[in-house]
Amino acid sequence: MNSLPHVIILLGAPGSGKGTQAALIQERLHLPHISTGDILRNQIKQKTDLGKQAKECIDQGHLVPDPLILDMVFKRLSEPDCAKGYILDGVPRTIPQAEALDTFFTSSPLIINFSLPKELILERLSLRISCSQCGQPYHRLYSPPKQPEVCDRCQGPLIQRPDDSQEVILKRLEIYSLQTEPLLKFYSERHRFYTIDCSQKNKEQIYTELVSFF
Ligand code: ADP
Repeated sequence: MNSLPHVIILLGAPGSGKGTQAALIQERLHLPHISTGDILRNQIKQKTDLGKQAKECIDQGHLVPDPLILDMVFKRLSEPDCAKGYILDGVPRTIPQAEALDTFFTSSPLIINFSLPKELILERLSLRISCSQCGQPYHRLYSPPKQPEVCDRCQGPLIQRPDDSQEVILKRLEIYSLQTEPLLKFYSERHRFYTIDCSQKNKEQIYTELVSFF
């Protein structure tokens, strides 16, 4: 095994399982899980200026503009709990975000890309429910919570995210292909980069493969 990574970037289309795996490796590595989606949803809940701007983009399946994301992420990564490293989930999503983060990192990141065909993504997202408090995702059929509609981790109420409607999912997938997929080439040319084929694997199998890269 190599020395444990300090900065891990989870890449992959919406619904590919980044959030589920991030929660698992967070416990193993004792590193904070930085989910830009969760931070933005919190800002929306608190009705901050950033939250108001983000809501318009998120509801339509668009990306939140890079300068807003970068400002928010750099603030979060400067907090003391990130001093020893972090797990990035949902960022970067564009080449300018990746370039800005590369100049910020003090150690080379490990990148894991979750690959899943579009049909499976659609099936997953339409049956996805998430905790409205901590963001933990569940699937109504494949990974249901122990108690119906209640989060196993924090007992918060589970909801279907408004951007998990069929129309918005299709928009998010289109934007993923255009803006985020180019990151696969960007990272494979620069850093340690691995792809996990997530079709036909359950979350334990994906986790086992993921930790084999550490
Ligand atoms: P998913 O992985 O299911 O797409 P997220 O919770 O990561 O969902 O993100 C939800 C939404 O928040 C995205 O569709 C996008 O509008 C916005 N968002 C999150 N992270 C970023 C980012 N790094 N850059 C731009 N927009 C973002």
